[in-house]
Amino acid sequence: MTLTILEPVAPQSARAKAAFDSPASLRMLIGGAWRDGAETMESIDPATGRVIARFPDASEQDVDDAVAAARAAFPGWAATLPAERAATLLRIADILERNIDELAELETLDQGKPLYVGRWAEIPGAIAQFRFFAGQAMAIEGRTITPSINYQPAGKQMAAWTLREPVGVVAAIVPWNSPIVLTAMKLAPALAAGCTIVLKPAEDTSVTALRMAELIEEAGLPAGVLNVVTGRGARCGAVLAAHPDVDKVAFTGSTATGRAILDASKGNLKRVTLELGGKSPVIVLPDADLDLAIPGVANAIFFNAGQVCVAGSRAYVHASIYDRVLEGLAAQAGAIQLGHGLNPATHMGPLVSARQAERVASFVSDAQQQGASIVAGGQRLGDAGTYIRPTIVADVDPDMTIVRDEVFGPVLVVQRYDDIDAVVASANDSVYGLAASIWTESLSHAHRLSRAIQAGSVWINCHSMYDASLPIGGVKQSGFGRDSGIAAMDNYLEWKTVCAVL
Ligand code: NAD
Repeated sequence: MTLTILEPVAPQSARAKAAFDSPASLRMLIGGAWRDGAETMESIDPATGRVIARFPDASEQDVDDAVAAARAAFPGWAATLPAERAATLLRIADILERNIDELAELETLDQGKPLYVGRWAEIPGAIAQFRFFAGQAMAIEGRTITPSINYQPAGKQMAAWTLREPVGVVAAIVPWNSPIVLTAMKLAPALAAGCTIVLKPAEDTSVTALRMAELIEEAGLPAGVLNVVTGRGARCGAVLAAHPDVDKVAFTGSTATGRAILDASKGNLKRVTLELGGKSPVIVLPDADLDLAIPGVANAIFFNAGQVCVAGSRAYVHASIYDRVLEGLAAQAGAIQLGHGLNPATHMGPLVSARQAERVASFVSDAQQQGASIVAGGQRLGDAGTYIRPTIVADVDPDMTIVRDEVFGPVLVVQRYDDIDAVVASANDSVYGLAASIWTESLSHAHRLSRAIQAGSVWINCHSMYDASLPIGGVKQSGFGRDSGIAAMDNYLEWKTVCAVL
């Protein structure tokens, strides 16, 4: 059992080193100019509680200016040749790749995650988004259609076709859990489609968003095509979501904020896509390969300290293998080394903030008070208060909050089942429908269950498999619209129908 917390190792890159030593002063990007805010906010290294940067808390005027800059830049960017947009996206990918070590260190300081998560999973995923959508910029296609309209003038023919046109000014509002890749999932298809953007990163992770914007500028993006406003969601996020000159909001975050965004969009009937929360089931069938399933199920919840929208947070394990799987999962949880993300031996870092750790801890203590058993972890570690030990909760009732609500931390609820049809009903008994995984050696079970589960993504013998080519998003209250994959282009393109008498 690992109860020590590893100390940080000093970062290597100049920017991360500087922020590690004393707080950086950051500015936001509006119309190609870097601007201070009248008020500022602090970014805190959650592992140490130290301030690593101060950044602007954008005012309503700042948001107005950013939207106006995006509006002014729109006609020019929309008119660029697809090949020009593709080349820009490829340059962005190359620049991000050259700076990958620095970005990973900044992400660790800003968000808390271990270096390997940013360096080998999240940031390569972000780079892949720009490369994938560079191709999509050059593959925007309408259709030719033969209509059946029978009242055209005698001797004439009808022809019809569709054009795809960029939606306009996009507000991209993103959360803190995997901010670099989630930002790339919005920016890359929006830029490929010819849209201009106002990006609003989360309060806890504005440092990497601003550095990303600096690197993207280096790729030669015209002024105003990408603007970044930082600050409080309740002010700058809300103003942006309600802004009458924003055409579309591309949002990733909690279901509660998603609802607020939908309300705010009503004024000018913005297009809205919502990537929201989840409570994703993981079903282990009696014929599963347990050497694969036990570490796989543990990783599905403990990767990035469970701060993953698709985290497999509800495990359903067949009664015939329940004890063995529970014991295996507890052993996996107990072996996870906690520490500062800048220590290469760290497997799991702190949660993003003391507030988030408090929230997660209260879910666990409430479950305990309601009679659930804590099979592993359950406690907070360290003085900063942001470390939560990998936790496994069993003996739960399906109506308990810990079974129904998104915890967004390293907390797995394990339930036993006897009947495969009944477990599908249990898995679907949720307001969410983001993702699920099925662990089985049976082709028949794999196919049958993957159709029966209500979710935007179903993984078989794996979990959290992201790729730039694979659409990701939810059903039910996990939202609507898809990021990633060809489907994401639909978020940023309108259809125009042209019909002609010839
Ligand atoms: P959040 O909803 O609190 O915040 C997300 C963003 O919205 C932040 O930038 C925030 O400043 C902004 N915001 C807050 N209030 C706003 C308002 N009234 N108007 C406009 N913007 C506002 O979410 P979070 O805590 O940052 O992130 C965690 C949540 O994100 C979890 O629920 C998680 O499941 C979800 N998430 C979903 C996906 C997905 O693809 N479905 C991916 C990652 C995270």
